[in-house]
Amino acid sequence: MLMKDVKVSNGTKIIPGFAGGKNNSVNIKELLKDIDVRRLRRSSLNIYPTDYCNRRCPFCKLTGVLTTEEDRNDMTMKDIDTIIDFCKRSRVNQISILGGEPSHHPQIVDLIERIYERGLCVGIIFTNGIFDNDELIKCILRHHIPVNMNYFPPDEYKDGQLELVHENMRRLFLESGDLKGMVGQKLSKGRKFALSITFYKPDQEYQYIIDACLKYKVDSIRWAASHSSTTQENRHVDFGLLRQMVPLTVNFVRDAIKAGISTGEECGLVPCILTKQEYRFLSRFTRGFIFRCEPILDVFPDLSVHYCMGMPIVSWITKENTLSQILLEQMIISEYFRRRPRSKVCLKCEWWQNKICQGYCLQYKYDKDNPEDRKLLAGLKWIEDRRQKSKDRCVIHST
Ligand code: SF4
Ligand code: SF4
Repeated sequence: MLMKDVKVSNGTKIIPGFAGGKNNSVNIKELLKDIDVRRLRRSSLNIYPTDYCNRRCPFCKLTGVLTTEEDRNDMTMKDIDTIIDFCKRSRVNQISILGGEPSHHPQIVDLIERIYERGLCVGIIFTNGIFDNDELIKCILRHHIPVNMNYFPPDEYKDGQLELVHENMRRLFLESGDLKGMVGQKLSKGRKFALSITFYKPDQEYQYIIDACLKYKVDSIRWAASHSSTTQENRHVDFGLLRQMVPLTVNFVRDAIKAGISTGEECGLVPCILTKQEYRFLSRFTRGFIFRCEPILDVFPDLSVHYCMGMPIVSWITKENTLSQILLEQMIISEYFRRRPRSKVCLKCEWWQNKICQGYCLQYKYDKDNPEDRKLLAGLKWIEDRRQKSKDRCVIHST
């Protein structure tokens, strides 16, 4: 069904609308061998309604592309209609809302209502919880929308923010508690709500988030080791630091499990840095513990679609294209980088040979000064353009 989207002539790829233009000379036939075409259907995608964030965490993958409040870009109602049209012709029925901080989009409630009016639903909302918007809370509760809230050490909040976050947790997590057995059932067993933590230093504290889960009856924590932003300006865990992060993550998962809280991980570790015992423990007690990634499909306010907000593989929503076409394009490009070993050590490793591990995050595998890599990575130009348009991109605080 999808092969018609790719015209292969003499092993040279030509994909209509291909981000890198039609002069790239990657051997598609060869790359397609490792792509499971059954993975070219998805039922959901993520939108970033705004590129403004009121917190700007030091580890954020949007570091360097977030805007100031004056300079922000917000999705319009017309944009959301374009995205919904795209979803309908792609047979996607769920839109998740991430950010930038989505609660600070000036029409966030209208935007959510439009998604429902047009027959789709919201998969999940990710928020930092620092918002004062009664209508939004009512809207989330009315539609039973799952919420994932980033929660930070209490002493990192300022000027009444902590009180606001706790009040929002109370309303979102406790007031809708009686709904968990209904709509949340499939998602959950409790996973309708989760708190979220990103690890970026080996001595990071985490007990506070377990305590908050217990207080607000949230029984799931999403965790991840911080990966680099496309601008590589955020605090991130490169391969050198990764092993040092293992005791922290193992202790965290152990303490969460002891407290009755389940954990889920996002594209974090690799097997070779774990002892057998650590590997068995983490793979048993952490959802999503895998070592290869797929396109996450994050849609920005300008309707660019990103592999993830760290890897500069970018496509665009047009009036005609579908999610499967974008997925195929991004899987081909990512496969090109995935096949590049992290080091010679990977080539001798059975995790690599069996295609279970991709040799850590793809973001560490390209060279932005290499012309061949640049041709494929339209996201590099996207970032440069964004940064040029505004000299006043966000300045990240460090902790
Ligand atoms: S493929 Fe490379 S990064 Fe992955 S486990 Fe093997 S040596 Fe480690
Ligand atoms: S490139 Fe892959 S592993 Fe790296 S952050 Fe993106 S999705 Fe995760």
